[in-house]
Amino acid sequence: MSGSMASVALAWFRRDLRLHDNPSWAAATAVSDTAALVVIEPALLSGAGPWRRRAYLAALAGLDQSLRAEGGGLRVAVGDPAEAVPQVAAEIGAQKVTMNADVTRWSTARDQRVAEALDMPLDAHWGTVVHAPGQVLTAAGTLSRVFTPFFSRWIQTPMSEEVEPGSASVLAPPPGMALHDALGDELKEPWSEHDALSQLDRWQERVDGYDDDRDFPAIEGTSALSAALHFGLLSPRHVVASIGTHTPGRTGFVRQLAWRDWYTHLAAENPDIFRASLRLEYDRIVWETGHGADACFDAWRRGQTGYPIVDAAMRELAATGWMHNRLRMITASFLVKDLLIDWRRGERWFRRMLIDGDLAQNAGNWQWVAGTGPDAAPYFRVFNPVSQSRKFDPAGRYLRHWLPELARLDDKEIHAPWLAKPLDLASADLTLGVSYPYPIVDHAEARQRTLAAYKGALGRNS
Ligand SMILES: Cc1cc2nc3c(=O)[nH]c(=O)nc-3n(C[C@H](O)[C@H](O)[C@H](O)COP(=O)(O)OP(=O)(O)OC[C@H]3O[C@@H](n4cnc5c(N)ncnc54)[C@H](O)[C@@H]3O)c2cc1C
Repeated sequence: MSGSMASVALAWFRRDLRLHDNPSWAAATAVSDTAALVVIEPALLSGAGPWRRRAYLAALAGLDQSLRAEGGGLRVAVGDPAEAVPQVAAEIGAQKVTMNADVTRWSTARDQRVAEALDMPLDAHWGTVVHAPGQVLTAAGTLSRVFTPFFSRWIQTPMSEEVEPGSASVLAPPPGMALHDALGDELKEPWSEHDALSQLDRWQERVDGYDDDRDFPAIEGTSALSAALHFGLLSPRHVVASIGTHTPGRTGFVRQLAWRDWYTHLAAENPDIFRASLRLEYDRIVWETGHGADACFDAWRRGQTGYPIVDAAMRELAATGWMHNRLRMITASFLVKDLLIDWRRGERWFRRMLIDGDLAQNAGNWQWVAGTGPDAAPYFRVFNPVSQSRKFDPAGRYLRHWLPELARLDDKEIHAPWLAKPLDLASADLTLGVSYPYPIVDHAEARQRTLAAYKGALGRNS
């Protein structure tokens, strides 16, 4: 084929902001000179809180860096992909557009509109999961509603081969369509796939301790790879292949990536996962509403509930966009089961604030905590915030970092300051109700109220 007749493809990047093991990119560059496009969708960007927004823009700069190293660069449009994708495809004379599919209602509807607006094929691949939805099924051909059998099949399913970028040229953006044209002053320090791959390398040195360390927020016992996975700076199948399962720590870690796939597959089947309980009868629960509930929700968001482990975690979330998995479970359980507030309100706040906020993972996990999802925590399991705190932050190191006003309480008192003796409070320079709140609910009473509400909805007597 002569140079002038070379075929041209458009690779449309969304949540797969990397070139390594990227099926859409590999398919495009295998045969065609390829342009790389991102369309920033204002509605999606405004739904992201400050941390995820910043991470996304940094990841775009990282992708641009990877593309420049290949002699090209990222094209950026802002607006509706159903207009931008066909327009760019026409401008470059593309014969096809490639992308990696996603499962949310928003993205499937959008991709449908883009496919209809294009007069060429829109080739969909999978690059955001280890196994694509529909690939891990029971003998009856259905998605397992229980995680353990899903995991057994998932781990036995052979992973498809990792793919390399092809050798076709990478096109540079024309004037006006480069990253800095779209982002201007908002251009961030790049956060690239190479950064994420180095983070994965460093995790290799600690992963064997995962089983022992993963539940303690005061130590770095987990990988902190979730944001890189969310934006696709890492290929999850590359992560599984490079970590392997030859030690208990590694198997434990890979199992978490299976949870990630499972929630993605569940969301693909149930795109309403963020607004409808997967066990429908749980939508009969009568949640607290009105001013009292609003005030409690606000105290939860601001880290002012009077339960130190909840408050420390919620303050960390607001200040950094991060929260440890154990703390996500404790704070979510507190909202739903101590305050009896609808899990959907908490899900929305988390999704907005978390740097790794992800519809399928967040809604799936909230439904797990609320007991409304398949294979969820049973409804009568209510985390006790004080015993969880004593167990997982025994020396109060995490608490002291985020709640300096409690720092001088001793290791025993810091988990429940209202139980401390007046003299101890005075020596710690702490006035409850002034420098730190009293508990907004009594855990034992709240537990009873919640169990009654759940039983009422489920028609259970005991
Ligand atoms: C209420 C609640 C909300 C959550 N919201 C999100 C979210 O919006 N986005 C998100 O990525 N994770 C979410 N999680 C799951 C989990 O807390 C985070 O993935 C994890 O804390 C990220 O830290 P890590 O990368 O160090 O995890 P590691 O422990 O190192 O685990 C490795 C990877 O496995 C995946 N993973 C781990 N735990 C889970 C899990 N329970 N469910 C699904 N995947 C998991 C993540 O991709 C993670 O990066 C939520 C959990 C709860 C309880």
